[in-house]
Amino acid sequence: SIPLGYFGGIGAASSKGILVKGGNYLEELRNLRSVVLDKTGTLTKGVFKVTQIINVDEANSTEKVLETAAYIENFSNHPIAISIINEYGKEIDENRVKDITEIAGKGLKAKLDGNEVSVGNAKLMKQENIPIAIQDNSIGTKVYVAVNNELIGIINIADELKKDTIDAIENIKKYGVKDIVMLTGDHKDVAEDIAKKVGITKYYSDLLPHEKVNKLEEIMNNVDKNEKVAFVGDGINDAPVLARANVGIAMGGVGSDAAIEAADVVLMSDELSSIPTAIKISKHTNKIVW
Ligand code: ADP
Ligand code: MG
Repeated sequence: SIPLGYFGGIGAASSKGILVKGGNYLEELRNLRSVVLDKTGTLTKGVFKVTQIINVDEANSTEKVLETAAYIENFSNHPIAISIINEYGKEIDENRVKDITEIAGKGLKAKLDGNEVSVGNAKLMKQENIPIAIQDNSIGTKVYVAVNNELIGIINIADELKKDTIDAIENIKKYGVKDIVMLTGDHKDVAEDIAKKVGITKYYSDLLPHEKVNKLEEIMNNVDKNEKVAFVGDGINDAPVLARANVGIAMGGVGSDAAIEAADVVLMSDELSSIPTAIKISKHTNKIVW
């Protein structure tokens, strides 16, 4: 049977916009050793903005680079795609695009006016054997745009930290969580930049969705039997990791339906400060029970 205090804890949490799907998760939150967080949409707003467009040569203007990317990204609902479509801002003739494939953690491939187009990260370019023959040292998420296996340009995209991220991480540490880890599909430079800004020393970048699950399992294998591991995420790709963690915590507002479904705890406000609040409630709940 579930001690009465747990119901009090679930009620207290829900009054703060934290939906806990069962009393056992309060117990697990009380025994957290590690909090593992996704970057995009979790630590950051997940709202990207195009900051720069680079063209490789005069054959294709920056406008052409943007148009090409927007036509393909029109078939994705990734936050990166939305930023590119918004930047383009013009109507898109969907009839010009055929054979669309979205590759999780990499980007998209499609035919535009009969030409083979790839839009995505360095991993996608590598997979397609497209050389990146241009130097671009700026820090940021890069979307490479290639037509018929030749790079025509790079779109730089930036995301911002949520306003309570730094405080939330500090408060999670204050509640006795020893280990805070960031996982991301984004590349190393961006991961390092964000981790430094928020005070996280342990992070893993360039991860494909299934590699996030492997990392989480590795972390779970390294804690004591009574210690628990939480994962915090928002995306469709995060559902398997949310399901695997002892406590899966999803963003309720920006989170995908799959993530909310797979999670054990849903944060209605999307605020990371809800996590230290939930830990606090779990500790308080137990004081009442025992
Ligand atoms: P995160 O771990 O940051 O939430 P995702 O797994 O959603 O990231 O994506 C990882 C990476 O894959 C992105 O940083 C981006 O480089 C690339 N990517 C994914 N989807 C797209 C897309 N629609 N367009 C361009 N790049 C994409
Ligand atoms: Mg994500």
